Amino acid sequence: MSETFNFKDYIRVIPDYPQPGIRFKDITPLLNDGAAYKAAIQTLKQAVEHLNIDVIAGPEARGFVVGAPLAVELGVGFVPIRKKGKLPYETIEASYDLEYGNDSLTMHVDAIKPGQRVLIADDLLATGGTIATSIKLVRQLGGVVCGAAFLIELGYLTGREKLQDVDVVTLLKYE
Ligand code: 5GP
Repeated sequence: MSETFNFKDYIRVIPDYPQPGIRFKDITPLLNDGAAYKAAIQTLKQAVEHLNIDVIAGPEARGFVVGAPLAVELGVGFVPIRKKGKLPYETIEASYDLEYGNDSLTMHVDAIKPGQRVLIADDLLATGGTIATSIKLVRQLGGVVCGAAFLIELGYLTGREKLQDVDVVTLLKYE
């Protein structure tokens, strides 16, 4: 790749969104810039290529905009992990806490074949609750979670500690 990017220049920090005290990292400027978005996905691709991934799974909604292009780049399939009530076929479900609020995540029962090597992808690692729940669902289906990839890690929320048994790759870190 000829151009190098300072990816933080493409992240807009929004104070007090969606609640007072939260400094939300808005990734839409990155998504809006074709060259920067492509470079971000290519950088993640290079970091995870060695993991022998069979399929990528990503939680809605921003996990889709990281996981799906990464899957296409790697030539593997993509599995959506969705909020309760959104998937049309038979599902498994697990509940989780967010940095703010809580919810349930679901996956189709046949989304992962037992033994498949699964990379989980999302835009941002905060407390790690979303990804820990995604990992739990993938493992319940018999998948082997070989890694987790993010655009952004919020180091001060120590989500990485919840992911000690998987390879964690992040493009950017805020301390
Ligand atoms: P965690 O479960 O690790 O606490 O929170 C991560 C999840 O919440 C991700 O799915 C992410 O999309 C969302 N999230 C939490 N904080 C932010 C933020 O500041 N920026 C963005 N883009 N997403 C966030």
